[in-house]
This record gives sequence, C-alpha cells and structure tokens, in this order.
Amino acid sequence: MRQSKSVIICGGGVMGLSCAYYLAREGWRVTVIERNAEGADSCAHGSAGYISPSHVEPISAPGMVWKGLKWMLSSRSPFYIKPRLDSDLIRWGWLFARHCTEAHRRRSAPVLRDLCLASRKLVVELADITGDAFELKQEGLLNLCQTQATLDHYSAGLAALCNEVGVEARVLDAAQVAALEPGAKLQVAGAIYFPIDAHVSPRRLIPTLTTLLKEMGVKFCWNTSVYGWRAAGGRVTGVATTGGDHLADEYVLTGGSWSPAMLQGLELRLPMQAGKGYSLTMDRPRLRLTKPMILTERRVAVTPMGDTLRFGGTMEIAGHNDLVRSERVQQIIDGAKAFLPELTDADFAGIKPWFGYRPVSPDGMPYIGRLGRYANLSTASGHAMLGLTLAPISGLLIAEVLSGRKPSVDLSLLNPNRFA
Ligand SMILES: Cc1cc2nc3c(=O)[nH]c(=O)nc-3n(C[C@H](O)[C@H](O)[C@H](O)COP(=O)(O)OP(=O)(O)OC[C@H]3O[C@@H](n4cnc5c(N)ncnc54)[C@H](O)[C@@H]3O)c2cc1C
Repeated sequence: MRQSKSVIICGGGVMGLSCAYYLAREGWRVTVIERNAEGADSCAHGSAGYISPSHVEPISAPGMVWKGLKWMLSSRSPFYIKPRLDSDLIRWGWLFARHCTEAHRRRSAPVLRDLCLASRKLVVELADITGDAFELKQEGLLNLCQTQATLDHYSAGLAALCNEVGVEARVLDAAQVAALEPGAKLQVAGAIYFPIDAHVSPRRLIPTLTTLLKEMGVKFCWNTSVYGWRAAGGRVTGVATTGGDHLADEYVLTGGSWSPAMLQGLELRLPMQAGKGYSLTMDRPRLRLTKPMILTERRVAVTPMGDTLRFGGTMEIAGHNDLVRSERVQQIIDGAKAFLPELTDADFAGIKPWFGYRPVSPDGMPYIGRLGRYANLSTASGHAMLGLTLAPISGLLIAEVLSGRKPSVDLSLLNPNRFA
C-alpha cells in the first residue's frame, strides 16, 4: 500500500515514534520533529516498562475524588495535586471529578481492554522484528497486597472487573505468591496475579525504534521546537518550528504532557495535566526478582530490567517543574522496604532519582484521532500511566485514521474533541 503523502509528527517520545513506525510501514513520508537532542530522555525512558492489559480501570475511578481531596493535603501521598489558582487545572479537576463514577469505569473498561490487548500483540510482533532488542518478558504482573483487607478490596474490585471483561486475574494467598517468586522474601497477605501482562526495557526500546525508523527512511529533526501553526480553509498548512516552517499533507501532535501548549495559536483545547512520576534504578541489585510487581498500598511499581531493578511511582499534579521532592522519592524507598524487607537504605544509596511527566487526561482515556476543525490534524496523546502499553496500538490507529480506513478499535470514547 505505497503512499506518496507526507506527514509531520510533532514530538518524538514513544508515542511519536510509534505513530512514525505504523505510518512509515504504510509508505507515508514521515518527519519527526523533536525539541530535544537524539538520545535524550522522554517520559518512557524511566517508566516501569509495563505492557499491562490488567490496567482496564481509568485513573478517574469511583472514590478517587475523596481520596484525591485527602491526598491533596499531603505532599507525601501517592497521588498529589498541588493546589494552585490555574484555570486549566480547575477545569481539569472538575472534569476529573465528573468522571469518577461507576458508569464511566464500566464504559471505559472494555475499550481499555481492547486497546491493551491489541497493543500487547503488536509489542510481541515488534519484538520479533527487532530480534527482542528491548527484552520483552512475558512474566505477568503481581499486584501485591500487604493486608487481607486490601486483597479482599482488590479481589472484589479490579480482579472482578478484569475477569468480567476477559483479562484473567487470579487471587493468590501469601504461599502461592512465594511459590511464584521464590528468590525474595515478601511481606504480603497475597496478590492479584495477571498472567497476560508483560514488561520491556524502555531504555532499549526507544533507541531500537529510532534505529528501525531511520532504516525505514523516517527523517528526524532533533533540537527543533514547534512553536506555532499556519492554517487556512479548515486545514493546517504548515508547522512553525525553530528550524523554519515544515509543510506536509498531514500533521500529528504527539507532544505528551506538552501537547496543549503546542496547540497555541489554533484555538483548540485539550484538557491535560502533567503527572510527574519518579523512578529509581538499582544496578546489580542484591535482590533478584523475576516478576514485576505493584506494591499496592504504597502505589510503587517494581520491575526487573536486565541486570537492574527499577522502582517507580507517585503521581504529582504540580505543573512542569524540575523540582525533585525528596519526601516523594523517600515514599518509594519506604514502600519498597515495607514489602521487600531484605532491602535496606544502603541498597538505594547514591541512586539518582529520575522523573518524567505523564500526559494525564481528566477522564483517564487517551486522545486518539482527528483534532478540532482541521481536516488534516490528529493527535495521539493523554495516555497517562499507559503510554508505553498503548503506544503501538495508538500508532496503528493513527495510521488507520490518516489512511481513511475503519479504525480497528472503536474510537468514540477517545475522541480528542470530547471536551471541546
Ligand atoms: C514513573 C513512571 C512510570 C511509568 N510506567 C509506565 C508503565 O509501566 N507502562 C506504561 O504503559 N506507561 C508508563 N508510564 C507512562 C508513560 O511513560 C507515558 O504515558 C508515555 O511515555 C508518554 O509518551 P508520549 O510520547 O505521549 O509523551 P513524552 O514522552 O512526554 O513525549 C513527548 C515529546 O514531545 C516533545 N516536545 C514537547 N514540546 C515540544 C515542542 N514544542 N516541539 C517539539 N517537541 C516537543 C518532548 O521533548 C517529548 O520528547 C510511566 C510514567 C512514569 C513517569
């Protein structure tokens, strides 16, 4: 299916690279514009690496409003919204609260399931194509629970929902968990085990994709910032960048948490907040784990990646700022020590905390498809905690939309104009 049409991808994180891949595969002439240098970190680099079909619940889940209000009072909480007088944040918060309902949870779960399962298949395909260069491991995911009350709560909630929509979730007691991960002492009452989940090494995935794209003829403009747009007659006619104007038939916005700012001049609204998260990567850890695990009560994700062990977590809605809040990093360390008692502070000594900004939409659903009233502008953004998981299917969906084919997943709940 050779095309002679051209497309410009604005933003070279995992989403931009994935859109570039599926479009180039269909013969589009692709240019990626990225403000950072080649090799610089994007949000996916320090992520937990999960490819997780088990995440069928949007973050705007029932009960999150009260939890969020309580957590707002403490900068140590796992989900912290820094109160500030900002009209975008206030509107985002209002939309978030409106979606914390059982009806939204039930409506979203089958869509997230379809997206996640389709993406997981594409990740396996990509691993085959690249000779498993990004260390795909299909080991499942353990949601560890320290107390029986938490285990019961998650059995009746997330596990039940997963099983209902066809994503297998097994409830395990402490002995069954120990049998799955015999190399480590775990301080738990039990776990929910999701056998379908997988994980990758994102620090290998991004360069692998970049190399593959170059081989496919994709052009990269590094160190180049998008700062404006040209538009006429209901179409975008060019994108203004620090490297001059770039023209194409189609334009795709993949700026992650910066996407709303990148739309300046087009009078379009894409409600989104930057959800800062931290991770700590231990080189040559004493503790050898085989399975990734979420330490449920502490909201910490632990992932074995090659010779390293990564601990990630926290969601801090406080705008884009490079401040490393040591109390939040400490929460990750304390959570890890509580569940994995063999770990001590010495294991974490000298590890430099990494942080990245998740692009968080107010209803916990990504934005995928045509954007605003411009016939040739689209976006794949707002994936929050699922950007790595959903990058392949989002890229494929963008290729389908741009090529005029019927999208392989229903896009109604993902319409980028749903809050316009
Ligand atoms: C601690 C942590 C753990 C996570 N764990 C997981 C996980 O296990 N599984 C999962 O699925 N997801 C996870 N995520 C989420 C995932 O990493 C993100 O959803 C995903 O990386 C977002 O990718 P993106 O390409 O949309 O955005 P980004 O990676 O932010 O990419 C946007 C790009 O646009 C560029 N840009 C911005 N402005 C401009 C401009 N004006 N001009 C040109 N370029 C511009 C930026 O430089 C950037 O490279 C995690 C996130 C964090 C923080």
